[in-house]
Amino acid sequence: MSHTFTTCPKCQALNKVQSEKALKSEAICGQCQTKLNFHGLVSEVNSKDFQRIVNKSDIPVVVDFWASWCGPCKSYGPQFQQASSKSNAVFLKINTETEQALSSQFGIRGIPCTLIFKNGKEVARQSGAMSSDQLIQWIARN
Ligand SMILES: [Zn+2]
Repeated sequence: MSHTFTTCPKCQALNKVQSEKALKSEAICGQCQTKLNFHGLVSEVNSKDFQRIVNKSDIPVVVDFWASWCGPCKSYGPQFQQASSKSNAVFLKINTETEQALSSQFGIRGIPCTLIFKNGKEVARQSGAMSSDQLIQWIARN
């Protein structure tokens, strides 16, 4: 059975979650039983939680750097979410407006920008929006 990772919005515990439960919105924090926030299998995290998940995950982590003012990001969001249920990877969103330090750490210039991390290291990045099929194929190639 596939799984994903996220952090708890209340107690910040790192949670390993069965994908099936996350998709049914039945995932709760193992520590404090708070409902975990998933959209499809996508969760939105801050810089600190991003780092913890990237360091801990035993499967690739796919990260969408986005912003609310960015038109292409808005159309990419649903594609990203759609791809999340069809790939064996952790899907995270980083808001570049609230997480500016992380965005500059990775040299994000244009958004949306999608990065793949394996074993804590960036292995690929793609600027611009993709369809969910393009995204799934790109992840499979990397
Ligand atoms: Zn919790």
